[in-house]
Amino acid sequence: MEHTLNVDHLWQNYIDGRWVDNDEKIPVYDPATGKVMVEVAKAGVEEVEMAVQAARRCFEESEWRKVRPIERGRKVMGMAQYLLDNLDEIARVLCFDSGKPLDQAIVEVKSAARFLEYYGSHADKLEGRSIPLGETYFDFTVYEPFGVTAHVIPWNYPLEIAARSGAAALATGNTVILKSPENDPLSIYYLADAAEHVGLPAGCLNILTGYGYEAGAALCAHPDVDQVCFTGSVGTGQKILHSAADKVIPAVMELGGKSAGIVFPDANLDYLVEQAKWGIFMYSGQVCSAMSRLVVHRSFMNEVTETLADVASKLTMGHSIENHFVNPLISQVQLDRVAEYAAVGKSEGELVIGGNAAERDGYFMEPTIFMNVQPGSRIEQEEIFGPILSIIPFDEPEEAVAIANKSDYGLCAGVFTNDLNKAMRCARDLRAGQIYVNEWWAGGHETPFGGFKKSGFGREKGIEGMLNYVQTKNVGIRIQ
Ligand code: NAD
Repeated sequence: MEHTLNVDHLWQNYIDGRWVDNDEKIPVYDPATGKVMVEVAKAGVEEVEMAVQAARRCFEESEWRKVRPIERGRKVMGMAQYLLDNLDEIARVLCFDSGKPLDQAIVEVKSAARFLEYYGSHADKLEGRSIPLGETYFDFTVYEPFGVTAHVIPWNYPLEIAARSGAAALATGNTVILKSPENDPLSIYYLADAAEHVGLPAGCLNILTGYGYEAGAALCAHPDVDQVCFTGSVGTGQKILHSAADKVIPAVMELGGKSAGIVFPDANLDYLVEQAKWGIFMYSGQVCSAMSRLVVHRSFMNEVTETLADVASKLTMGHSIENHFVNPLISQVQLDRVAEYAAVGKSEGELVIGGNAAERDGYFMEPTIFMNVQPGSRIEQEEIFGPILSIIPFDEPEEAVAIANKSDYGLCAGVFTNDLNKAMRCARDLRAGQIYVNEWWAGGHETPFGGFKKSGFGREKGIEGMLNYVQTKNVGIRIQ
């Protein structure tokens, strides 16, 4: 298998329907080798200004927001087909820059296409209400787009997340500026190719690759941006919320998580272990909705831990293009951070397996499990964003729910049991935006996704995801 990315593509900013170069570049690394693969044109404050002006002009002057919604929807769906028609190339690019195993990169490209298809097909289905006010009035509501929307994208699922919010914003008649992640921006450029392919008006979709503190901050603070959707860490979200507050514009916050799966002793062991393998070790735990805590009944903890450790010890590690389950972390910075948590964990729980950065090129971390982790300890409370699982024992069901809920985050929670009443009590009492019963990540593009507490607010996916990009206008008519 060839370990170099040989793809002929322009890695430049995409503004007003044109590729825009910059003498200043951002290097993009292959996380599996630690070597620079390509350089992309950096977006600075000047490019942000150009993109906002283009998006504003397109919103005000083009037909984009005025046409019959299905015409917009067809274009958005056409972008989905473009991604699918170029699946192999895009997945290979995504695999190389994100460090994601090739199979998972293929799933991500298909998922991005599905968001474009889902929201494109709903462009003509967002209907207002007719409100009865007695016989002297007619009253109805209409949904109108905000205008220029900014989408700040994290590195873990760059294409999927860009398509997720971008498609909803486009389908509702907004114009879009994507600020792609500086670590792995490459796959997002294919959305520009898709936009050209279907003939989106110039300025309708713009793509900027720049550093967060510079291009990201300038974009979110720009006075002509009408709405912002941010997916990323709590700290960055807080900064973006400050600039949204200064301008009084709406913001969607899709932030981090420290999600717990509760395991009762009647759960099927092998099935549960397979769920946990994917839940925490998929993409080496760099997943906002990862099952980073397993709260297991004390009578079952040793068996679950031993079986999962056995499975984890057999996972192979290697270059992402070879499809090994254990892939590299995104960067040296991330590896150092995760390895530090593993070191901290040695005094907060019993190390069962892993615990170190792997001794090889690239940014690889061993799959790591701690058992008997103390509730309230750092590895049990803080989002690590790496392949580190904390296993915590419980005795009574109420205690399990209390442990799961004792978190600043509230993105996801799950329960594994064959007892319907136990499952439903947990579903009722867990404080999280997503509750998974007997399958981690049960749900789909059609189901709303988002957080409670510091995991954020606003919902992406599903019909709820479209409502982020429209404002309600009420029209009251008096009959004379
Ligand atoms: P991050 O907050 O460091 O960066 C996210 C994006 O924000 C990047 O594009 C970055 O360039 C930009 N950015 C950084 N500083 C900025 C600023 N001052 N102003 C504007 N933009 C700025 O997060 P990350 O490390 O890329 O991603 C990991 C985090 O994202 C984790 O906390 C994870 O849980 C979260 N996440 C959440 C979801 C979700 O749907 N809830 C999905 C994926 C990731």
